[in-house]
Amino acid sequence: MKIEQHVIQELIEQAQKDAPNESCGYLLGTGDTVTENYWMENIDHSPEHFAFAPKDQFAALRYAREHGLKILANWHSHPASPSRPSQEDLRLANDPTIRYAILSLHEGIHLNSFAIRNGEVVDKEEHL
Ligand SMILES: [Zn+2]
Repeated sequence: MKIEQHVIQELIEQAQKDAPNESCGYLLGTGDTVTENYWMENIDHSPEHFAFAPKDQFAALRYAREHGLKILANWHSHPASPSRPSQEDLRLANDPTIRYAILSLHEGIHLNSFAIRNGEVVDKEEHL
């Protein structure tokens, strides 16, 4: 999966704005290239957890459909931990058709995305 540079910049700005809480959203695009960030409210408002608001998820799906885009990944930030899935992230990553991207603000800025199957990482890509 490729992520356009302007999208990466947007994720960083969003994550820094939402810190110390986690930020989250969908990465939309076509083919295997992410062209847009769709930010969603973290209704947990927590530094260690995130949950999408169902109304945001429906709105995101509608937005993607109307603009001919696909949801390529779900992303969230780790304000104070590395860019790798927590045990909870692995447990909640139940959609095998998308990737899971994690932007870390811990010890520099890092962005990795993962394919997760049955609670295990089967592929990792470094984007930043
Ligand atoms: Zn996480």
